[in-house]
Amino acid sequence: MFARKKFENHYEGAIEPFKIIGNVYFIGTTPASSHLVDTGEGLIVIDTGYSDTLFLLINSIYKLGFSPYDIKYIIHTHWHGDHTEATAALAHLTGAKTFIGEKDAEKVQKYFTPDVLLKEGDVVKLGNTEIEVMETPGHTKGTISLFFETEENGMRYNVGTFGGAGANTLKKGCFDYEECRTGYRDSLRRLREKKVDVFIGNHVWNNDTEGKGEILKTTGENKFVDDKIWHQFLDFCENRLDQVIESESQTLR
Ligand SMILES: [Zn+2]
Repeated sequence: MFARKKFENHYEGAIEPFKIIGNVYFIGTTPASSHLVDTGEGLIVIDTGYSDTLFLLINSIYKLGFSPYDIKYIIHTHWHGDHTEATAALAHLTGAKTFIGEKDAEKVQKYFTPDVLLKEGDVVKLGNTEIEVMETPGHTKGTISLFFETEENGMRYNVGTFGGAGANTLKKGCFDYEECRTGYRDSLRRLREKKVDVFIGNHVWNNDTEGKGEILKTTGENKFVDDKIWHQFLDFCENRLDQVIESESQTLR
């Protein structure tokens, strides 16, 4: 579980887009996930991915029967290029409004200038969807996690993301900001309090997007509905931070 694949070029990691559940669709690639939410009054894109996969993102939206010109909002989990590189072009082409956690506002200028800065407790509303924002610093200072409800066959599901799980910036010399390790632990503690029925990862290895997508396509069984993986993933993240710290103390010995 939680294993990764690497590609020389990001576009080699193309994935056929598919509906995850309700009004939530996967439109990303193996190197970086992107999601589409159809609110009935416009589309929301969560993370745009690398610039060399923008064609795939746009193609995926068309393949699902939507138009990229209906994108109203683009929300970003954090400022890193794998989630934001394609945003400037996509926002320019569609006129969509761009959102990011306010504490990532400065660093994201490298990729685009955000229209709206989000903070703890903000709710982004569009059509039938209300996305709740939780500030979950650690991976970056302004990482945000997103929570919203979706409906399928008369059932309501809590959909949740963890906006920045990567341990790369928790290593000494790579910190996004000084207090990132305590921030990360505190974020994990608060994330554990959320009830999540459908965990959508911002990288496919977070929730085995490809494996579950394949099962959904071939058998119709929706393994994205899973009330355990959220906590399993948060535990995995906490263990990985412990391992980073442990490996540093071993090097010092
Ligand atoms: Zn990142």
